[in-house]
Amino acid sequence: MSLRALAVAVVLVLAGLVGAPAFGRQDPDPKLPPVASLTDGVWMKGDLHIHSRHSKDSSNNPVRKIIALAETVGMDYLLISDHDNHVLGDVAHNTWADPEYASKSVILLYGAEWTTHRGHGTALAARPYDHQRLYDVADERDVEIARVKKALGIHLSANHPGTRDAFAFSFDLVDSVEAWQSAVWANNVGNMHIWDDMLKSGRHMTGRGGSDSHHGYPDTPEQKTPLSYQAAENNVGTPTTWVFAKARTGQAVVDALTNGRVAISANPFSPRVEFTADLDGDGRADMMQGDNAKPTGKPIGFRVQLAGKSVVTAATYTVRVIKDGQPFAKLQMSGATPSVDFTDTPAPRVRTYYRVEVEGPPTPYPQVPGSMALSGNMLGLSNPIYFNFDPKF
Ligand SMILES: [Zn+2]
Ligand SMILES: [Zn+2]
Repeated sequence: MSLRALAVAVVLVLAGLVGAPAFGRQDPDPKLPPVASLTDGVWMKGDLHIHSRHSKDSSNNPVRKIIALAETVGMDYLLISDHDNHVLGDVAHNTWADPEYASKSVILLYGAEWTTHRGHGTALAARPYDHQRLYDVADERDVEIARVKKALGIHLSANHPGTRDAFAFSFDLVDSVEAWQSAVWANNVGNMHIWDDMLKSGRHMTGRGGSDSHHGYPDTPEQKTPLSYQAAENNVGTPTTWVFAKARTGQAVVDALTNGRVAISANPFSPRVEFTADLDGDGRADMMQGDNAKPTGKPIGFRVQLAGKSVVTAATYTVRVIKDGQPFAKLQMSGATPSVDFTDTPAPRVRTYYRVEVEGPPTPYPQVPGSMALSGNMLGLSNPIYFNFDPKF
């Protein structure tokens, strides 16, 4: 190559670099399915990460005690996710076979905490499945685990990925990530970073909550253990995961969790964050959190509001909008039905996501009174509203 040709080549390469969009490096033009109905469904709340007496590191936490608290605080669904390694994978003959694993008002899911040398995950389904198979391949290569997961037809979620027992498998294995684990909100910085990194990489990945509670209230003073204090600080629903399910069934809960119409609240009585967008500019929302659409190239109106009876009327709530992992806006809202709007114009052919975090006065949780001090002002998280995410990823 002549010197002159080389110089031209260098200029072309540089021009390519300068011209590349800062985000969404490829030029995605995916064919997207239409957004599902915004009204055909019901918001349901529950907890997806709790340990009963079938986990050896729990105390005073029989299944009946956990379910009784879930019923008292109005949970719609629940997964008791005991450590599978404590029963060598045989959760089917332990937690699931426990005669106490039944409820008239709470839909019970089937699953376990997949407790491996490379981290923890939550496996779950609406019906019993052969969890032993997943346990048995925990030390295999990820491609083999993916094959078994697919055959079982289960939802797999990465647990507390940015803390101790970090999730060190491929995130291609999972459908969701535990973005908010336990009442101690401050411990979730790493989990939130990993969630944002997965979203930035083009993964349509649901963020969910999980209390990871292990300890119940002792029935007698003699039953008290050194960790019994945790029952009053971290218990059912700290945090609470809301799903917008198409029906009041376990399968609809699992589907909503996979699809991402999900919000996380500090506790069962905290308001729920609703995050919607008006894509076509007709003044009515046509997308909600978890939905994915093509931007029009025109400004899109977004709305954040709080739903729930527990809103403190005189309170002012702070809304942090995150766009593509970066702070985008800090807004305030107040009133009986707190709500705030913002506008942005996502680029028509670039992958973009927005999600929100809401802070405000904590909502009392009388059954777990110590939890409010631990979650502090963090009230709730939305899932992202997505643009141009490839559904075939
Ligand atoms: Zn764990
Ligand atoms: Zn756990």
